[in-house]
Amino acid sequence: MAWRPRYKQLCAICRKSHVLIITRGQFPICTPCSMKQINQPIADEKFRKLFDIGQNLYEQSSFLRSIKSNYLRFGSLSDRQIEMFKKVAAELANPALTGKSNAPAAAAMPEEPATVALPAGKTKPKAKKK
Ligand SMILES: [Zn+2]
Repeated sequence: MAWRPRYKQLCAICRKSHVLIITRGQFPICTPCSMKQINQPIADEKFRKLFDIGQNLYEQSSFLRSIKSNYLRFGSLSDRQIEMFKKVAAELANPALTGKSNAPAAAAMPEEPATVALPAGKTKPKAKKK
C-alpha cells in the first residue's frame, strides 16, 4: 500500500499527450484516446443502457472509463462494478444527490388512516330527534 508514485508517462496510443500515472500497472492512455477506445457499440441491451450516460461524464471520470473498458475487454462486469458505476455516474450527473442516498424513502411513511379522508360528519350516526 506504500506504493504511491505519481509520474507522467507518454500516452501509449497517440504518443503525444502525457498521462499522470497514479496506480500500479495503470495503462498510460490519455483522455481523448481512452474516449475513442471506449466509444464502441455495445450489443448487450442491459449494458448498453448502463453505459448510456453523457459523454461528458466519461470525460470527467477515469473510473467510469475504466469500468466501460473492462466491460469491452471482458464482456461482463461484476455486480459490484455495476453498482459502483451507477453510483459514480449518478453522483457526477447530479452532485446534489451525494450524501442523500441513505435518506428513507417516502414510502416508509405510514399511510394516513382512511377515516381522515372522509368528509367530517358523514361517518357519525345521525342523532335521533324526538
Ligand atoms: Zn493519447
